[in-house]
Amino acid sequence: MDHLPIFFDVKNKPIIIVGGETLGARRTDMALRAGANVLLFADELSDEFDKLKLDEKFEHATEPLSAEHFKDAVLAYSTSEDEAVIEHVHGLARAASVPINVADNPALCDFITPSILDRAPLVVGISTAGTSPILGRMIKARLETMLPAAYGQFADFLGRYRTEVMDRIKDGALRRRFWEQVMDGAVFDHVLKGHEKDAVEEMNLELAAYAEGTPRHGAGEVYLVGAGPGDPDLLTFRALRLMQRADIVLYDRLVGDGILNLVRRDAERVYVGKLPKEHSVPQEEISEWLVKHARDGKRVLRLKGGDPFIFGRGGEEIEKLADEGIRFQVVPGVTAASGCASYAGIPLTHREHAQACIFVTGHGKDGRFDLDWETLVQPSQTVCIYMGLTHLPELLGEFIRRGADPDLPAAAVFKGTRSDQHVVAGALSDLAKKVAATELAGPAMIIIGTVVSLRDKLNWYRPEKRERTIAKTHSKETIRP
Ligand code: SAH
Repeated sequence: MDHLPIFFDVKNKPIIIVGGETLGARRTDMALRAGANVLLFADELSDEFDKLKLDEKFEHATEPLSAEHFKDAVLAYSTSEDEAVIEHVHGLARAASVPINVADNPALCDFITPSILDRAPLVVGISTAGTSPILGRMIKARLETMLPAAYGQFADFLGRYRTEVMDRIKDGALRRRFWEQVMDGAVFDHVLKGHEKDAVEEMNLELAAYAEGTPRHGAGEVYLVGAGPGDPDLLTFRALRLMQRADIVLYDRLVGDGILNLVRRDAERVYVGKLPKEHSVPQEEISEWLVKHARDGKRVLRLKGGDPFIFGRGGEEIEKLADEGIRFQVVPGVTAASGCASYAGIPLTHREHAQACIFVTGHGKDGRFDLDWETLVQPSQTVCIYMGLTHLPELLGEFIRRGADPDLPAAAVFKGTRSDQHVVAGALSDLAKKVAATELAGPAMIIIGTVVSLRDKLNWYRPEKRERTIAKTHSKETIRP
């Protein structure tokens, strides 16, 4: 290690900062956030100081910097680019034995400033010992995605219990298990959602159980998680966290391997989509499995395509859990209509085209649909049809029969957001025929409305570009109007 990593208490202690530009402002901001008294030397301050200088711990010194100023200082930063200034400041700091950081001059630095991930009281500092600050910043960006902003609140919350837990759980090993359970379970989830009261309640229950030496290991729970339409990049942070926590996962047809691979490696995997005999596991049976596994004390992940509450029967599944008193949480996912539309370059609403957007199911019985056609056949709106592929000719025909313009633009987005996404675009009158000619397989999202015509202009997404390249070589696969 080139440097000693420490977190230095500078509360109410003077820090000298030289320079009134961007870097000086950044150092000032950090020092003030840590509670220091900042004494800033510069002839002028840039706009970036406008807010900082209102802080009562900030003082703008215009007199020349002298040895006197360094008498009580605990740290100094020089952000000046002027060689003479740098030499002067550095000399004074050295003489007073005050550690100094000179910007962009490692040789003159007593300490370096790490990249900071601030989730106070949780703070992560990253140093590359000056070899590559950019690498430090990249690592910081990765950590940003792993540590939601609420981690700070969580650290605060845990801090409040530290002494009490020490007092009540004497056994060291048991205490460690307690903390692990708290940090990777319901208490954590409640704090992250901002449900302070629930978190306290859960914490007290857990603490009481451990204090009596009877941890509640039996308490399983269910996570009903929306996995989005296919691209793993569209998962939410919470979905990923719960996927990493699960003991068992029940998934269906719409959840692809790319996503399944992100579930905890040791988790048991149960497929509940279509079985080899082409029969789906009945809904009641899935609900019963969820209850049973949770009763066995497992963390059960019910992973669903898109959003669990949009044509996903999520409501039915949690109804059973609620009846049985099983703890559960629901995590929304990007629904197919939204994912397909974005990746196909079709805005679902647009001020000049559509003021409303309707999601309907095209799942019909014997070619008949239980749909409110009067509402569906209206100008200035977009209709997204889920499960509409099987009866596509009947569906589109019905739109026309009910008075829609046969030339109304319509598109079918196959395997939306995945690397093999295909878009077939046309109009109400010819889309079904165009789709039939491709032999593409579902899932497919049908989008109807004049917004589809914007696609030519807006199809700048990568999968679309790839699609165009593919279309050149295999022209029959993608048919454009
Ligand atoms: N809960 C899911 C929908 C389940 S219903 C969601 O919110 O997205 C299943 C239907 O969703 C499919 O028949 C198809 O119409 C649509 N769908 C799901 N994933 C899709 C995808 N990647 N591309 C196109 N359509 C998709």
